[in-house]
Amino acid sequence: MSNPSLLMIGGATDEMLSRLTPEFTIHKLSEISDLNAWAAEHGASVEAVMTNGHDGVSPEIMAALPNLKVVSGYGVGYDAVDTDACVARGIKVSHTPNVLNGEVANTTLLLLLAGLRNFRHDEAWARSGDWESKGSAPLSTSPDGKTIGILGLGRIGQEIADRLAIFNPTIVYHTRSKKDVPYTYYGDLVDMAKACDVLVCITPGGPSTNKIVNKEVLEALGPKGMLINVSRGSVVDEDALIVALESGKLGLAGLDVFEREPHIPDALKASDRTVLLPHVGSGTHETRAAMGALTVDNLLQWKTDGSVKTPVPECAHL
Ligand code: NDP
Repeated sequence: MSNPSLLMIGGATDEMLSRLTPEFTIHKLSEISDLNAWAAEHGASVEAVMTNGHDGVSPEIMAALPNLKVVSGYGVGYDAVDTDACVARGIKVSHTPNVLNGEVANTTLLLLLAGLRNFRHDEAWARSGDWESKGSAPLSTSPDGKTIGILGLGRIGQEIADRLAIFNPTIVYHTRSKKDVPYTYYGDLVDMAKACDVLVCITPGGPSTNKIVNKEVLEALGPKGMLINVSRGSVVDEDALIVALESGKLGLAGLDVFEREPHIPDALKASDRTVLLPHVGSGTHETRAAMGALTVDNLLQWKTDGSVKTPVPECAHL
């Protein structure tokens, strides 16, 4: 029997390709110049798609693949995949939960420290010679003993709470449903923001979280408050964030994700109240290798018995 066809949206490492190449006939979207012409010739043969959290699977590609059976996502967030459409067509969708929890938590700590301890300015002070010409750098804020609100206390949110323990924080959280955890629950995000020194966003993206960190939440966090977003750019109202930072109604923002990636608004780049990262929450060799291995595991398991190892909840019954 011939190997099933796999459409690759986005890249794959050599390690991933070495495991996939013997098992699938691979088509790479990056090498397809005319999707319609390609689809007319190959679309019906494609049963599997591999994609990432940013690109997902567009409606055009879904329509071009009438016999699609499995979508394997590289990443835990799958807001760019239309799971309703997949369920309706019986298409299994997998993602890569848990293997990146620690790295995203590390990124959160990095943003927290860089923001509160004024890393950008202190580093510039050291490099520029200001230390010699102007004396000691201005003082910064300790991360110790702060009240830290976690918006989205799931797999990664819990890991963030665990790793924050070194700073002896008071952890509070907001989710739609109360969890069995030793932290104070806030049913209202604005109320939680009022109580916090730092608000960490780590929910999924998608309609239910779209711009839930709005003007009111940002102003509740206040002039000394810090927002950290390692979830999705869509979770924060970016225009409101810029206004809050520029007016001093919000103290600081540490951002790994943005509304229109890879675009970052100039106002955020120019601000001395921001620490910016180019969506590298899970971006280490070690963690990306683990994500790649699980992405491939899902495809190989599907090829073996039609199931996937780590389905997204919406498609777990398929
Ligand atoms: P989980 O599904 O384990 O946790 C999600 C949490 O968010 C749950 O506690 C859930 O609780 C809460 N939540 C969901 N919807 C809402 C809502 N509308 N309002 C309030 N809380 C909500 O996901 P993970 O922890 O594994 O991943 C979280 C997200 O992190 C990913 O979906 C992805 O977008 C992002 N991410 C970012 C990365 C980066 O590089 N920056 C890397 C990896 C992930 P409840 O259902 O009770 O509301």
